[in-house]
Amino acid sequence: MEKGCKCPFCEASVDSHSHKDKIEPKQGDLSVCLYCSALSVFDEHIKLRKPTSEEITSFKSDANLWREIKSYVVATTMVNQPQ
Ligand SMILES: [Zn+2]
Repeated sequence: MEKGCKCPFCEASVDSHSHKDKIEPKQGDLSVCLYCSALSVFDEHIKLRKPTSEEITSFKSDANLWREIKSYVVATTMVNQPQ
């Protein structure tokens, strides 16, 4: 994980990650921010950028991928609910 990686939506510092297979992120991988639940994409420098509208359309066209993305967004939203 690169130092200085930030969420492109809320600017939160992203200094760790988790992956179901415990591998390092690579270009094109997706990330859901733990702070604002926004969906981002890892660029060629393993920094996060906002997805393009074409990428969003592509993600939505893959029903299984979109369901998985939404489950992460819901999970992070629930974590961030005030107690
Ligand atoms: Zn964020």
